Amino acid sequence: MVKAGLACALLAVPLAAAAQNAHTREAAFTHADSLRGSLTSPERTWWDVGFYDLHVRIQPADSSIRGWNGITYRVVRPARVLQIDLQQPLAVDSMVQDGRPVPFRRDGNAFFATLPAPPPAGAIRTITVYYHGRPQVARRPPWDGGFTWTTDSLGHPWIVTTDQGVGASIWWPNKDTQADEPDSQRIALTLPDSIFDVSNGRLRRVTPNGDGTTTYEWFAVNPINNYAIAVAAGTYTHFGEVYQGERGPLTLDFWPLAYHLEAARRQFVQAASMLKCYEHWFGPYPWYEDGYKLVEVPNTGMEHQSAVAYGNLYANGYRGQDWSGTGLGMKWDFIIVHESAHEWFGNSITAKDNADMWVHESFANYAEGLYTECLMGKDSGAVYIRGNRNWIHNDRPIVPAYGVNAQGSGDMYAKGGDMLHTIRQIVGDDEKWRGILRGLNRTFWHQTVMGSEIERYISDHAGTDLSKVFDQYLRTTMVPVLEYRIAGDSLSYRWTSVVPGFAMPVAVTLTDGVYTDIHPTEAWQTTALHLADRAAFKVDPDYYVIPRDVGSGPAAGR
Ligand SMILES: [Zn+2]
Repeated sequence: MVKAGLACALLAVPLAAAAQNAHTREAAFTHADSLRGSLTSPERTWWDVGFYDLHVRIQPADSSIRGWNGITYRVVRPARVLQIDLQQPLAVDSMVQDGRPVPFRRDGNAFFATLPAPPPAGAIRTITVYYHGRPQVARRPPWDGGFTWTTDSLGHPWIVTTDQGVGASIWWPNKDTQADEPDSQRIALTLPDSIFDVSNGRLRRVTPNGDGTTTYEWFAVNPINNYAIAVAAGTYTHFGEVYQGERGPLTLDFWPLAYHLEAARRQFVQAASMLKCYEHWFGPYPWYEDGYKLVEVPNTGMEHQSAVAYGNLYANGYRGQDWSGTGLGMKWDFIIVHESAHEWFGNSITAKDNADMWVHESFANYAEGLYTECLMGKDSGAVYIRGNRNWIHNDRPIVPAYGVNAQGSGDMYAKGGDMLHTIRQIVGDDEKWRGILRGLNRTFWHQTVMGSEIERYISDHAGTDLSKVFDQYLRTTMVPVLEYRIAGDSLSYRWTSVVPGFAMPVAVTLTDGVYTDIHPTEAWQTTALHLADRAAFKVDPDYYVIPRDVGSGPAAGR
């Protein structure tokens, strides 16, 4: 099976190339990487974004844009210099605060604006950035970001944006870090009359300008990732339904291209069953006020908050493929199921640093297994998750360097999902596990987090310290090996290929047909075995570990 790449991350490029690429980048982070990725730079931390008021005129005739963003912020501590990101070749025309121009200097993709005086702590200010230019064209969306200027199969213009990873500053000026989200955002986009724009949140106003253009004013009333803000303008039609969810009625709005209406009516019924499953496991959908939408796009899809971009050709699987290789992935639409999971893990709970992207992708991958479980039962869900091990590479750690906008291995999907599945086995109580998943969403609701906070929460609520488990799976490429030997009625066992102190319990058959937890460490231990046939010895396959029979010789280290 040729894996073209998953939605919403780096797997677009063939895996080996992606690994090599990222490896090269890790070897030498640039000044620009530090500017873009820093969570601690003084020019970013003294002001807290409250509102983005984004207005952009999109001109397909020459692939250019022109607009402004009013950035309202609260002063955390008085300072004068703000870093505002906008990527080349776009140009800032001016910045204005309190009716006065603000001088600025450019350093690559970052602009440093210097206020005449530091505003007092607690003050609310708005700096407006005017800009224009021809934004980067996405070469391979959704993985490679920028604008896509294309046409649908009837030749109508179709314009969308994608920018996860590369950053929203590829098309609009903002504080381009996942660590600071506005409390709400307006997205007012002006486009040729012939196409309709669907962005995030709710459509407040459609204003024909009388010059061949129309302005679509969308508004998200919740905190939102900057990379979730998107253009999707085309010849759309609309249908919808109201879903009765945990927090009451939730509007579901579907925006297929007009000629895909019938296909969309068939395929998008999966949105309701997805919501039912995820609300059960994760808690309420995070954006009742902004609604849930699926918007057809010419790329595979992306987790644009409250307006999930959909490009899966109205068929189950992932563009006709099943990542798990089990056939179970063909029972549902990968893009609806995977991208929508990001509404909980990614959009509501957002990693501050791209290095913790596993908080988005490991849970979204794991969610695919839960959805399979919701449809077809617990065993099927487990088979699906285990099937995903086929594309774990253990090439690089899932968590790379912090503070430089680096992305870890593509193993953040399948290996991360298998890590969570393994932790579910350790917890050993499905209701408790569900309580942890819901508790994460309740505790970190609409927040940006460090991955360590997620690790700690799970450890604290699992009733056992999982820090070595996270270290092992997130920060090394080693798969734990359970070495064992059977001698008569005794089983000797130990962990190897593990981080120091790794002592994860694992379930094995000590008696016929029954899994019992053992607690291996790096030292050999021995326990009694009651199997009619030693060949019947099994390690529970739901743990992502490698069992290795080291034979009948004397066990090392005993
Ligand atoms: Zn994803």
